[in-house]
Amino acid sequence: METERVVADRAIPLLQTLVRNACVNTGAEDSGEETRSIEAIRGFLSEFDIESSILYARPDRANLVARIPGRDPLQPTLAFMGHVDVVPADASEWSRDPFGGEVIDGEVWGRGTLDMLGMVATSVAAFTVIAESEPPPGDVLLIVVSDEEAGGAFGARFLTEQHPDLVKCDYMVTEVGGMYLTEGHIPGLTLTVGEKGICWARMRFHGTPGHGSMPYRADNAVVKASKAAEALSEYQAKPELTPIIRDMADAFMSDRLSRFLARLPGTFDLALSRLYTRNPGRAKFLHTAARTSISPNVLTTGGKVNIVPASAELEVDIRLLPGQGVEHAQRMLREAIGDSDEEVDIEFFEFYPSTLSELETPLKRATERILADILPNTRIVPMFIGGVTDGRYWRQRGTVVYGFAANTAELTMDRFSEMIHGTDERIPVSCLERNLEYLTRLPYELGSDAAGHLGERVSARVHAE
Ligand SMILES: [Zn+2]
Repeated sequence: METERVVADRAIPLLQTLVRNACVNTGAEDSGEETRSIEAIRGFLSEFDIESSILYARPDRANLVARIPGRDPLQPTLAFMGHVDVVPADASEWSRDPFGGEVIDGEVWGRGTLDMLGMVATSVAAFTVIAESEPPPGDVLLIVVSDEEAGGAFGARFLTEQHPDLVKCDYMVTEVGGMYLTEGHIPGLTLTVGEKGICWARMRFHGTPGHGSMPYRADNAVVKASKAAEALSEYQAKPELTPIIRDMADAFMSDRLSRFLARLPGTFDLALSRLYTRNPGRAKFLHTAARTSISPNVLTTGGKVNIVPASAELEVDIRLLPGQGVEHAQRMLREAIGDSDEEVDIEFFEFYPSTLSELETPLKRATERILADILPNTRIVPMFIGGVTDGRYWRQRGTVVYGFAANTAELTMDRFSEMIHGTDERIPVSCLERNLEYLTRLPYELGSDAAGHLGERVSARVHAE
């Protein structure tokens, strides 16, 4: 069946249903109500005689897993994974109904079309095509989850912790990737190989209470906390120019001088500020990918206008590089505020390490072979991102996870960044078509490359036993 027909008959109608269900995740436990979209996907799959399991973290927040068995149990398992919840949308700022799912001039409109209902709909459609075709070499899994936008407690985290065997896989394709870059000799498509770690700290500053009418030499906790906030915002960790960061810088910068400056740690930040004047979004993206970042975001203090406060709390969002833990964050915070001991208490209330998949894998090679065919003259640009996705839960368990989609030049990185979580979010039908082709062919291409990899894996297992 040809690609255009599958997209028109399967992917787009399903995408419209997912958009119209408006599974808006506000972060409240009872928001999202993704069970509606999960049921819709189960119904859709059953039309193709594909069975699926629904796993409930809560009755209103379900997750779906389906499997197409492969021919050879020694071949790797490949998963397509995506989430059906979306972030809120303010209809008054949109040119169209954010939950209308309209198709206008070759684009499907609506909240979530890019993040990531378009990818979910193409993954489900590709899954039905694979199920109708000859059995793939290895198992293909379809995993659709709730609650990505609030951290995955009812979705990816629930599945990987409560049903690890059901969702175990060797390779996974998910968000965030496939952003089209036009700089350089050959256009590039981003492929996310890793994400920074999350580390959230609460810093408590102590002062001495006193009367607000007599501030002379007061020991004021508000002043201490705000000085610390300023010091933290000025603190710049050194850039770590790994090969991935160098590739990203090359692909993001259009002039030779900037590219040259970006190759050296001493001049990297100069290149970054040149990039900022031309493209601030991309500069922010590269800045955070290259170093540990610190952002002081919540200040809670004071009680009464005429009292010098005895304490103040500052909450800080720290994003870590691979291998860094809470101790690293602790050292960095103290260094940034110039404090060596007991002036401040630091408590960490959230931590998830950075995750990074290998870049040279059968999955990347299979992706390149398919791209050469469906989007010729497009190279892969590896990316390391500052935010987190559900992919981390699998990466952390050893799965090679890539954020990727075979999008076309109609979806440049700048358009993508502007619309994601923004207004007038929409996806070109051409992206759905190329991505459907990519996903449909991937299990077969991967199988033709993975034999060597699995040989190594099997022999490693034999050695271990
Ligand atoms: Zn997303």
